[in-house]
Amino acid sequence: MNKFAITRPHENRKAQELIDKSQRKREPQRTLRLIGWIGTTPVRGVCTTCAEEFRISQKTMTRASEAEESLKSQFRWHICR
Ligand SMILES: [Zn+2]
Repeated sequence: MNKFAITRPHENRKAQELIDKSQRKREPQRTLRLIGWIGTTPVRGVCTTCAEEFRISQKTMTRASEAEESLKSQFRWHICR
């Protein structure tokens, strides 16, 4: 019988607890919800966390993909109130 070969599961459990705690503390991920379209182009979005609205001006609106990208970047850089 070699007692030194026994693994120490309590250390793993401790590490796992720390991981669980840090994951629980993390804030829910905010998401951008598109709420307005002109045709198939998204022109309005809202943050699901702070309800701030983002808009695309008709001038800058060219393609649907670019409009969505613009909304996404506005959303990415805003600070939740
Ligand atoms: Zn927000």
